[in-house]
Amino acid sequence: MSEGPDQRRSVVIVGAGFGGLRVVRRLRGAAVDVTIVDRRNYHLFVPLLYQVATAGLEAEAIAQPVRRILRKSANVRFRLATVTNVHLERRVVITQEGEIPFDFLVLAAGSVTNYFGLESVARVARGLRDLDDAEQLRDHVLRAFEQAVVERDPERRRQLMTTVIVGGGPTGVELAGALAELRRHVLPYDYSGLDLSAARIVLLEAADCLLPGFPTRLQTAALAKLREMAVEVRLQATVADANPSGVTLRDGEPLPAGTVIWVAGMRAPPLADLIPTAKGANGRVLVNETLQLPGYPHVFVIGDMAHVGGPDTKPHPMMAPVAIQQGGLVAENIRRTLEGQPPKPFRYKNRGVMATIGRRAAVAQVLGLQVGGFLAWLLWLTVHLVWLIGFRNRLLVLVNWAWNYFTYDRGVRLIRRS
Ligand SMILES: Cc1cc2nc3c(=O)[nH]c(=O)nc-3n(C[C@H](O)[C@H](O)[C@H](O)COP(=O)(O)OP(=O)(O)OC[C@H]3O[C@@H](n4cnc5c(N)ncnc54)[C@H](O)[C@@H]3O)c2cc1C
Repeated sequence: MSEGPDQRRSVVIVGAGFGGLRVVRRLRGAAVDVTIVDRRNYHLFVPLLYQVATAGLEAEAIAQPVRRILRKSANVRFRLATVTNVHLERRVVITQEGEIPFDFLVLAAGSVTNYFGLESVARVARGLRDLDDAEQLRDHVLRAFEQAVVERDPERRRQLMTTVIVGGGPTGVELAGALAELRRHVLPYDYSGLDLSAARIVLLEAADCLLPGFPTRLQTAALAKLREMAVEVRLQATVADANPSGVTLRDGEPLPAGTVIWVAGMRAPPLADLIPTAKGANGRVLVNETLQLPGYPHVFVIGDMAHVGGPDTKPHPMMAPVAIQQGGLVAENIRRTLEGQPPKPFRYKNRGVMATIGRRAAVAQVLGLQVGGFLAWLLWLTVHLVWLIGFRNRLLVLVNWAWNYFTYDRGVRLIRRS
């Protein structure tokens, strides 16, 4: 640890996601040397990942090089490296490229897909957590239609053209809506010889409603809209098994499918398992209200990786605003610690939730108001455009959205991998 009044303290942040970048921004110009480490050289705007998966956006439009984001931060440097472990006593982060010492550590490594121990599902289903997942999913869906073109057996053809989405949260709803629009507005022109009435989109949700956590009125509106778009929504439907031919529900009903997408849950990343302290829900690291690791006040954990409070405290949702607000507080608490002041506790300010369903259709609860339809859709577009980092990315997304809206086309229908 750096000691002495003249010695600048070092802050190491693991993860250049929503939480990690907020810490960096708020420590800009502070009397500390900040190193942000990520296994990727870019920040990923995860909320639009489903649009890459459904041929609506190029991968490049939702990613921004971290070094570009940090250009104006003189006290911050970036290290491209995968963190494999952390030594809390020795105060070093261990990477494949060597050790990085720290005075303060912020763990903000996000989450990974949670298959809840269903190994067959993990083998067969496709998750959606990074750009590779999204591009591979797009490839897979488009390839299934190419195979359907030459398939003579009608049952197998129907299976190839069936997509099962597991998980009726915002991502599942948005994916189902986007795939339904692809089926309606684009595929009939690309595959004019195929009977697309056999192309099914099935959305499975284990609970008795879609969009858990949203107000009932918006849940009902989303359900009605998806059914109007011919998405087969099945509530209280739990997947028990999967094989390359599709999934089997808990009651034994088989659902043949060419593509199975699993967006039913997330858990803390493997790095969290290596932290030798107690874990909360979904393997998230338990931290106290000031976001500090119990027994290690110089270590903070935030975002998807953290569970604030005791094991019985309801965890915060795995959402970007939580990570961002926690990142802001950690930066403030580091500054306060340096000034000899006590750290402040985290209080989440929930400003709302929203999900888009399709063209001119979304649901949103913002500042206590519930809106649906066109207004919610406009709100969704605006919020995501403003939220996206980088002028170039905003422009790319805006151009793509305008193109998709006015031509009913999806420009990125590329199969890139064999
Ligand atoms: C498909 C999808 C859609 C979503 N849509 C929304 C939405 O619309 N609105 C919303 O609020 N939330 C949404 N979320 C949730 C939101 O993305 C997360 O809550 C948010 O990204 C969490 O921020 P974070 O900083 O904790 O982690 P992240 O933003 O995930 O960042 C973690 C970073 O850590 C890096 N990393 C991980 N492990 C290591 C390692 N070992 N070494 C080095 N670097 C590492 C990763 O590369 C990544 O850059 C969505 C999530 C998914 C999966």
